[in-house]
Amino acid sequence: MSRITIPMHTYVHDVDRIDGLDTGRYGGKAAGLARMSAAGITVPPAFVIGTDGYRAWRGGGELPEELVAQVDAAVQRLERRSGRRFGAQEDGLPLLVSVRSGAQVSMPGMMDTVLNLGITPRGACALARQSGNASFAADTFVRFWRMFADIVLGVDEAVVGEAAAPWLDGMRRDASLEAFERMQEHIARALAAEGVEQVLAEPRWQLLRAIEAVFESWDSRRAKTYRAHHGIPDDLGTAVTVQAMVFGNLDRQSGSGVAFTRDPNTGIRRLYGEFLLGRQGEDLVSGSATPASLSEPGGLPEPHRLQLIADGEHLERIYRDAVDIEFTVESDKLYFLQVRPAKRTAKAAVRIASDLVDEGLITKDEAVQKVSVEQLKRLLRPEFERTALAEAEVLVCGIGASPGHGSGIAVLDADRAATIAAGGEKIVLLRPTTSPQDIRGMLTSQAIVTARGGALSHAAVVSRALDIPCVVGCDGLEIDPDGHTFRIGGKSYHEGSPLSVDGTTGKVYPGLLPLEPSAGAAEHIERILAWADEKADSNYWVAGVSGPEAGLALKHAPRGFGAIALTDLLIALGMLGDFIETVDELGHHPERKATHDKLGRICYEGCRRLLLASPSVPLDIRLPNLGSPRAQRMIGAWASLAPRLFLPLGLKQFYVPLLRGIVDATRETGHTEVTALVPGVNCAAEVAAFKMAANDAGVLRVGAMLQSPAGLLNAPAMAVHAHALWVDLREIIRTFYGYPSALSFGDDVFDSYVADGYLPYNPRKALGRDLSQLLCSALAGCQATQASVRVGVECGDGAALSLIGELHALGVRTFSVPLAALPSVRLALGQHLCKEAGHG
Ligand code: ADP
Ligand code: MG
Repeated sequence: MSRITIPMHTYVHDVDRIDGLDTGRYGGKAAGLARMSAAGITVPPAFVIGTDGYRAWRGGGELPEELVAQVDAAVQRLERRSGRRFGAQEDGLPLLVSVRSGAQVSMPGMMDTVLNLGITPRGACALARQSGNASFAADTFVRFWRMFADIVLGVDEAVVGEAAAPWLDGMRRDASLEAFERMQEHIARALAAEGVEQVLAEPRWQLLRAIEAVFESWDSRRAKTYRAHHGIPDDLGTAVTVQAMVFGNLDRQSGSGVAFTRDPNTGIRRLYGEFLLGRQGEDLVSGSATPASLSEPGGLPEPHRLQLIADGEHLERIYRDAVDIEFTVESDKLYFLQVRPAKRTAKAAVRIASDLVDEGLITKDEAVQKVSVEQLKRLLRPEFERTALAEAEVLVCGIGASPGHGSGIAVLDADRAATIAAGGEKIVLLRPTTSPQDIRGMLTSQAIVTARGGALSHAAVVSRALDIPCVVGCDGLEIDPDGHTFRIGGKSYHEGSPLSVDGTTGKVYPGLLPLEPSAGAAEHIERILAWADEKADSNYWVAGVSGPEAGLALKHAPRGFGAIALTDLLIALGMLGDFIETVDELGHHPERKATHDKLGRICYEGCRRLLLASPSVPLDIRLPNLGSPRAQRMIGAWASLAPRLFLPLGLKQFYVPLLRGIVDATRETGHTEVTALVPGVNCAAEVAAFKMAANDAGVLRVGAMLQSPAGLLNAPAMAVHAHALWVDLREIIRTFYGYPSALSFGDDVFDSYVADGYLPYNPRKALGRDLSQLLCSALAGCQATQASVRVGVECGDGAALSLIGELHALGVRTFSVPLAALPSVRLALGQHLCKEAGHG
C-alpha cells in the first residue's frame, strides 16, 4: 500500500516574510505591516492568518487542525522574538497580543479587534511589578476581559466593567497575584450569569476563539451594510493579524496617535493628526478623550514628530499616495501599527491626486483613477448660499470634522434616522457619539452632529469616508435620544427641528439654509478632468442647454451645444403651451397661413435667446418629433389630428415654418453655426428632402437624430446629405428592444429582470453584441460614405456612465451629455481608458 502524503497548506505566515503587495491573501493591514518592516520602519512582530484561512474556517465550520498547529508554531516564534512567554505561568513578562481584522479593502471600524490577549493573573502581576505601575496592569487586565466579552463572548462589556469595578481601586494599590485571581473569578462569575457556558482563562484557547470571532465579524451586520454601500464583494473574507502588543498607557513617556501625511479635509501637504499621551489607540478612536494636534510641536515629543514626518514621506513613496498611520509610543520608543492609503474627503482627493503628479509620485493616468466619480459628484454638490450663511445665527459650534453643507430635520437615533430618511425626508443625525451600530442611520443622513468626540472619533472618521458633512465635540449640546429632545444653552428643542450643518467651520444653524452650486477645488478638478480628456481624445457637447444655463455651460468649454430640443427651449421660456395649441390648430387645419406664421414665430422666440447667449458655439437644434412617446403624452388628442403630422417629414407645413423660425433667429443674432436636426428619420430620402426644404428656407446645415434600428442601418446613406448625425442613445436602446418608454428611466426594473435570468444584462448598462454591431457598422459606414459627417452619440441620462466606455471602444469620439453629468462622464471615460491601458 502506498502512502499518500497531502502537502500541508500554509495558512499562517510571519508578517515580515509575506509579500506586502498581496492584499487579497493577507489583507491590507498585514500587507501594510510587511511593507513597513521592509522599509526599515519599527513594527511590533506579528503573524497573519490569510483569507484562505477564513474560507477554510467558513467552509468547515471550525478552524482546520493544520491551521491551529501553525498558529501554535507562530506563537512560539513570536515568543522567541519578543523574549516573552505567551500565557506564562511563571514570573517572567507575558507576551500579550492583539488579534486584528484586516480585509483586502479597508473597512475602518467595521470589524473587530481584541487587545491585550494573553494576560493572566500571574502575567498581570508581573506586568505591575516590572512597570512599577499597578494601575496600568489592572487596566490592561480589565480591558482584555471587556473586549473579549464583547467581541468573542457576545456579552456587553459593561458586565465586565461592573464586575471589576469594586476591586479596581484596591488593586491599583496592591497588585498581588491573589487580587488578580479574585478579580478574574468575579469576572468569570458575572459572565456565567449572562449565560456564557464556558470561559477558559487559558490564553491559547482565548486566542483561537478570538481568531474565530474576528472571522465572524466579517459577516456582522455593520460590515455587510458597509460593503453593500461601497460595492465590496461579500466573499473576499478577512485575514487575521496577531501582533505583539505595545502599550501607549505604560507610562508618561507613552501614548498613541493617528497621523495623516496630508490634511484629509483639504489635501494640503502637512502632517495632520492627533496624539494622546498615556493612552492606548482605542481611546483615540472611541472619542473618549481629547488629544493634542500633530500639526504643531508640543503634543508628541519633537523627535518622534520628525520621525513620523520622515517615515510618512517614505511610506508615501512606497504607496504612491497619501497615507494614514496608527502609531504608539511605548516608553519613548515609536512603533507603527498600521498604514493604508489615507481616507480623505472628495476635496482632498482631487488636491492630493493633482499634487502627487506635480511631485512626480504618480502619473497623470494614476491621478485620473485616484478620484472616484462619486467623489467628483459630491464635490460639485451645492453649498449654503453665501448671503444666507452670513446672516444666519449660530445655534451651536463644534469641531468641523468632515466638510460640506447639509440640512434636514434633527433625528436623535440612528435607526429612526434610517426609517425616516427612507420616507424621503432629509435628516440630520444628532447623537452624543456614534458607534459602528449606527452605520445605517449615518449612511442616510445629510449631515451628522455629535455632542462629544474629537476629529478622529468614529463619527468623524466614518463621515469623512462617506463624505457626509459632520460636526463633532459640540460643547453645550445635550441630547436625550429617548426623550426625543436636545438642549442647547438651557433651551430645549424637539426631535424634528430643522438644522443646517456646516462641516467645514463646525457651525450648526437653526432652520434650513438655501443651497447654491459649489465652487471649491475647481482648479484641481479641472486639471484632473483635462488629464481624463487627454486619454479619451473625445469631443464633448452639452445637451439640454436652454438660454439661462448657456453661460454656465460655456464655462465647460464644450465643442458645441447639441442636440438641443426645441421643445426644451420652449419649456424654459414658458411657451410650450402656445406651441401645443398651435400644433393642434395645424393638425386640424394644415393649410392656414396664420398658423404657419405663428409656428415660425414661436420657434424664432425659442431659439433667439440661446443663440444670443452662445454666439460662437456650434448649435445643433432638433425639431420636435411629434411621433415620440413624449410628444404623444403632451398632445393629448392626437388621434383627431392629421395623421401625417406624426411622421418626421409628414407635413411640410409643420417643419418648414420651424426652419424659417430658425433662419430668422440666426439672421437676427448673426449666429453662423446652427444645424437643424430632423428627428426619427429612417431613410436617406427623408434627410435629402429635409435638406432641400432647409436650404430653400435659408438653413445651410442639416442633420438627423437617429432613434431607431432602421435609422442606424441607413445612417451611411443619410450621411451623404447630412452635416451631423446624432444617435439618440436612450431612444435607440428603447426601440431596439421595444420596451415602453416609461421603463427607460430607471435601473431597478431591469436589474431585477436580469437577476431573474430573463435578460443577460441590463440594457442601460451594457450594449450587448447585436446593438454594438449595429452601432459599429453605422459608424464605419458613415465614415466610408461621407468622411466629413459629424457622428455623435447623445447620452441623455444616467445610462451614459455605464455605456460610455463601450461606445468609445466602438469608435465614438463625439458625445453629447447634459451639463450636470458632464464632469462625471469625462472622468468615467478617462478612468475606463486608463484602466484598459493599465491592463493592456
Ligand atoms: P481597525 O481595523 O478598526 O483600525 P485595528 O486592528 O487597527 O482595528 O485596532 C484597533 C486599535 O487597537 C487601534 O487603535 C490600534 O492602534 C490598536 N492596536 C492594535 N494592535 C495593537 C498592538 N499590537 N499594540 C498596541 N495597540 C494595538
Ligand atoms: Mg486601525
